[in-house]
Amino acid sequence: YGPKVVVVGGGYGGATAAKYVRMFSDYGIQVTLVEPNAAFVSCPISNLVLQGSKTIADITTPYDNLEKRHGVKIVRDMVTSIDAEKRVVKLAAGGELPYDRLILSPGIDFMWDTVAGMTKPGAQDKVLHAWKAGPQTVALRKQLEAMPDGGVYALSIPLAPYRCPPGPYERACMVANYFKKAKPKSKVVIFDANDDIQSKKGLFMKAWDEHYKGIIEYRPKHKVVEVDASTNTLKFEFNDDFKAAVANVVPNMRAGDIAVRTGLATANNRWCEVDFLTFESKAKKNIHVLGDAIQIAPGMPKSGHMANQHGKTCAAAVVSLLQGKEPPQLPIYANTCYSFVTDEDVVHVASVHRYDAEKKTMLAVPGSGGVSSAASELEGRYAHAWARNIWADTLA
Ligand code: FAD
Repeated sequence: YGPKVVVVGGGYGGATAAKYVRMFSDYGIQVTLVEPNAAFVSCPISNLVLQGSKTIADITTPYDNLEKRHGVKIVRDMVTSIDAEKRVVKLAAGGELPYDRLILSPGIDFMWDTVAGMTKPGAQDKVLHAWKAGPQTVALRKQLEAMPDGGVYALSIPLAPYRCPPGPYERACMVANYFKKAKPKSKVVIFDANDDIQSKKGLFMKAWDEHYKGIIEYRPKHKVVEVDASTNTLKFEFNDDFKAAVANVVPNMRAGDIAVRTGLATANNRWCEVDFLTFESKAKKNIHVLGDAIQIAPGMPKSGHMANQHGKTCAAAVVSLLQGKEPPQLPIYANTCYSFVTDEDVVHVASVHRYDAEKKTMLAVPGSGGVSSAASELEGRYAHAWARNIWADTLA
């Protein structure tokens, strides 16, 4: 029946890889995708659910096409352990799946031990991250709706690297946009653990000045080290405590738990080092790791756009390797991250990365990429089209 590929995680990296292994092998390789969620929920565009112009249904896509159109077998479960020697994964429900090659795209998990107070019972249900789109996105929107006018929403940003460098600054714009319309006396305070804005700095500062003066306040070098969830109080390494009406704490991140437990997170026990030609783990043979979980090359963001292209590069390599051929040698990725700054106006950052055979890593192509000259409605239309296209490319 042909070789077996098991894919763990049906997000941007995993769903793309599952579909493209089927297509690149002319449907000759069996692919099983293990994912606990019933449907794919997109983090890109999820800040618009917080703002109120989109619903969670708008950013949700079923896995039906992967199954019906591409013959990917979907197993709705969690992988609890991986035996790299025997080449089997164990499932929470009790079964086992053998593989010839395993593709792991588990996304990120949070380093809760770096924020005291957040492991107390109930703390994580009250002080939300909403950094994995789904129930927390809806719950945070409800907290914002329930907040009295005049309240302060505090957003804390972890030290880089984290998932989606411009995402927090877009979120601040979207929450401020909602406040401007519905709760004009309310404020957004951003506490950034980093020294400065991590992406599209000039464009975000201009948007805050033009549209959200007196609403958004930005405080760099504020590292949250403790949270009192009962009072929504943030405590910092060096600064005074801050009590918010709604506290949104995005903790430090590392590769998804399953990757760490399997011993794949070789970079500081946080991120998984891979060979960029195949995405095969440097720690364990026949296991490929994609998406946010990997140790990125300089300048490569942890983004859905990138994870989608990791998925295709990895799929091509896995198909070649299983067919006894050399994997393709010269991957090139482009990345564009759009950020909404008002209902319609959007800014972007773009980059192109090419494999360097000598340095064995991905390098930014000189002279490529850049940022918008100004926010525009036209880019707003591009941003919505980008989302529709990538969802179709990943899942249809
Ligand atoms: P994910 O998409 O998170 O997928 C991981 C999947 O693995 C999940 O479905 C999870 O359920 C599953 N999983 C985990 N562990 C297991 C296990 N043990 N067994 C089975 N399944 C498992 N990127 C962009 O390109 N553009 C944007 O505009 C953009 N905006 C963003 C806005 C926000 C607010 C956020 C939070 C992120 C944004 N991103 C954006 C980043 C993007 O969402 C991530 O980079 C992308 O999701 C990474 O893909 P992934 O496959 O690594 O992880």
